[in-house]
Amino acid sequence: MIKLVFLGTSDATPSIRRNHTSIFLNYNEENMLIDCGEGTQRQIRKAGLNPCKITRILITHWHGDHVLGIPGILQTLSLTGYNKTLFIYGPKGTNEFMKNLFKTFVFTKNYPIEIKEVEGKFFETNDFYLEAELMSHNISCNAYVFVKKGKIKIDKKKLKKSGLPHGPVLKKIKEGEDVIYNKKKYSAKNLIFKENDEKISFIFDTSMNKKIVSFVKNSDLLICESTFALDIKSKSKKLILTHLSQRYEKNPGKILDEAQKIFKKSFLVNDLDVIEI
Ligand SMILES: [Zn+2]
Repeated sequence: MIKLVFLGTSDATPSIRRNHTSIFLNYNEENMLIDCGEGTQRQIRKAGLNPCKITRILITHWHGDHVLGIPGILQTLSLTGYNKTLFIYGPKGTNEFMKNLFKTFVFTKNYPIEIKEVEGKFFETNDFYLEAELMSHNISCNAYVFVKKGKIKIDKKKLKKSGLPHGPVLKKIKEGEDVIYNKKKYSAKNLIFKENDEKISFIFDTSMNKKIVSFVKNSDLLICESTFALDIKSKSKKLILTHLSQRYEKNPGKILDEAQKIFKKSFLVNDLDVIEI
């Protein structure tokens, strides 16, 4: 299961109800932050999460409302005995920005930090991968996708019909290998199928550009600050609206209504909302 916690859902200016942008994504042992606006670490506490479990921070771009929480988190991790490598990813320029940040604050860094400027697929395990695409904003700005890979499964009905026993023979089939059993050949592709991938896309502060639709295509969740009518073209299943302007503080339903007119499956999130898929 993939768990998302919306730590902050405001735009450039935080409000009483909405903190600066940050989204927490948990999948198995991975705990990532997508952006880390001011106040993110208090939101982490309010959500009952442990900052020491963070494995990666993905930065969309270096406007303050998306990154002002980074020095605070880094300091807290030092003070609370963080003992693994923290990976920080961002668009072009991230190395320089991080260098400047370390020059600005006096703090003892007692754990390794690996900083990577990323584009394309930049991290992959057997279970999931992360991909970045450069968007158009007035500074370098990445959109990200998290894709949980569909697993190879045995079709139980077909297996029963085939009469193949459980054990090493079946293991080979699951690995895609054809097998010979009792002098009969069994083709793996007839007995296995791949689950659908699950895709979550994160897009912030970009103007409409040609790359967005193909990058977020077939998202199970498209997390976006504006509709762009993207939802229809990209065949996403659900649109999550966040990064809400103060203009809508008293009437957030207005933006939701507008979005739902274009795409019915639009949802508006508030701070500390949790979505599991
Ligand atoms: Zn921005």
